[in-house]
Amino acid sequence: MKWKLSFISHLSVHVDDSQLYDCGSQCPLCLSEQLRDTVAVIQEAPAVRLLQCGNCKAISASHMPVPEYLNGYYQGRFAEIYRQYTPGKQITFHDEDRFAGHILRYLAKQWIDRQESLRIVDFGGGDGSLAVAVASRLRRKVEIMVIDHGPEWVREGQVHIEKRRSVESLANNCHIVIASASLEHVPYPYPVIKKLYSLLQPGGYFYVRTPFVSPFMKLWDMFDFGYPAHLHDLGPAFWNSFVRIFAPDAACIVSQPSIVETSFTKKPIKTIIAAALKLPGHLEARVRGIGREPLWQYVGGWEAVFRRKPV
Ligand SMILES: [Zn+2]
Repeated sequence: MKWKLSFISHLSVHVDDSQLYDCGSQCPLCLSEQLRDTVAVIQEAPAVRLLQCGNCKAISASHMPVPEYLNGYYQGRFAEIYRQYTPGKQITFHDEDRFAGHILRYLAKQWIDRQESLRIVDFGGGDGSLAVAVASRLRRKVEIMVIDHGPEWVREGQVHIEKRRSVESLANNCHIVIASASLEHVPYPYPVIKKLYSLLQPGGYFYVRTPFVSPFMKLWDMFDFGYPAHLHDLGPAFWNSFVRIFAPDAACIVSQPSIVETSFTKKPIKTIIAAALKLPGHLEARVRGIGREPLWQYVGGWEAVFRRKPV
């Protein structure tokens, strides 16, 4: 097996043919059946490639793991996380409070102040710690709904968290929907993204953060994609198509390299490298504005904020 270099928390695992199904004929993000271009090869025998859709520009694996395999894979991962879990310890993001402050910078304060109470949906939110950090900065009554396949733990504290396994039963009355580092794990995200966006009230906000590592893979085939945990690579070209495909009544507030997820005190070298790689992307976004395909693509992750038009 070839040595791989990983900058992400998931290491790729080789998946056998019997555990995969071919989804190369249709884009799982926008359902387009246009022929997709190969961007990189994730594994051999059987070959799994990364394909880029010409319509929405999403990059997705040509083969998805069958649900039974994926359930077993995540049960193993959750068992590992559970062994390390203590309340108060963050699992992926090092400083949830900094992250919460970052998200809230983009939300209109007057609109938030007008709401008597707020409802937040955190898709793939684990124990709900990010949503709780957001809630604690809002200084008003907040209801949190976490959608996650993981174990039933939720962050303990003053804010009540309800946890569900699917978005289907949620009411369309939410103020903030967060999908941070979660959509890349879903084999078939089209209905999930549609549903998440539909949960928003007019004026509500959708924050998304996804990995965007394919530029590194084109440059360097030792780069590890993190398959089958990661199934999609969604960068600026995809998020700049979001309004056209999913949300014609939305405005894109932010589309930029994602926030650095490590903290300098805990992982100084990784944090400096990540910040240095993202810096040219931020400068470019500032100079050229939102909605253009950036020249500098080596940023590792992308984030965007959309706002449903207020009535
Ligand atoms: Zn597509």
